Amino acid sequence: MRFLLLLLFSTALFAQEGVEVKKSKLLLLPASTVENSAAQQYGQLMRQAQQKNALNRDPQQVERLRDIARKLIPQSARFNANAAKWRWEVNLLSSKTVNAFCMPGGKIAFFTGIIDSLQLDDDEIATIMGHEIGHALLEHGRARMSEQVAKNVGISIAAAIFNLGQLSTEVLAQGANLAVSLPYARSQESDADLVGLELAARAGYDPRAAVSVWQKMSKFAQSAGKGQPPQFLSTHPANDTRIKQIEANLPKVMPLYEKAKP
Ligand SMILES: [Zn+2]
Repeated sequence: MRFLLLLLFSTALFAQEGVEVKKSKLLLLPASTVENSAAQQYGQLMRQAQQKNALNRDPQQVERLRDIARKLIPQSARFNANAAKWRWEVNLLSSKTVNAFCMPGGKIAFFTGIIDSLQLDDDEIATIMGHEIGHALLEHGRARMSEQVAKNVGISIAAAIFNLGQLSTEVLAQGANLAVSLPYARSQESDADLVGLELAARAGYDPRAAVSVWQKMSKFAQSAGKGQPPQFLSTHPANDTRIKQIEANLPKVMPLYEKAKP
């Protein structure tokens, strides 16, 4: 039973300054399995985009995103030491879809739709990217893939551990899809917000931009009316509670921004 105890082991990260967040519990799948599967999915998605001539079509915008990522990524090790070894990627997809994500292992994508329709400035992009990176660092996708695989395979957690090698790639691929297409739990959203604030602040981006992002998001949702709700909003409710929580945490990260700002 020792391994089960290990699985249930969870740690709270206590930072001397900055935000406090929890790491995921019950991580059945090894990080490497999850990251390989996510990398495959991501590669497939990028190849499909390329075939549709929708991959990185605006070099200036791509460079802008990658520049922001280059500043955020070095700040990420304090939330997940393994992130230093990740093979990070940042790509821009031409699509009206209002969405952005970071898959397990640091595979980031932004859709032109989220940048254009919200007219995002660099600080705002940094807080969104930081939020998405936060999900990856706190291994929320890994937690969900683990749950899903255990469910799909229909076996006990203990049995799954011994049979991991036999899991079909389809099962894993399904899990990886779930890692970006379904809403996370409210508490995971809050923690990703907090990590996003701190990454942005430490990288020299104004964390107060998180407030304007969510205000824009909520306005955009209202103007979109009863039509198709923006994808990002279907997984990320932009409500007062969220904005208030961000505002309440700004004092923890503003000193970091003051030190880091250009
Ligand atoms: Zn989120």
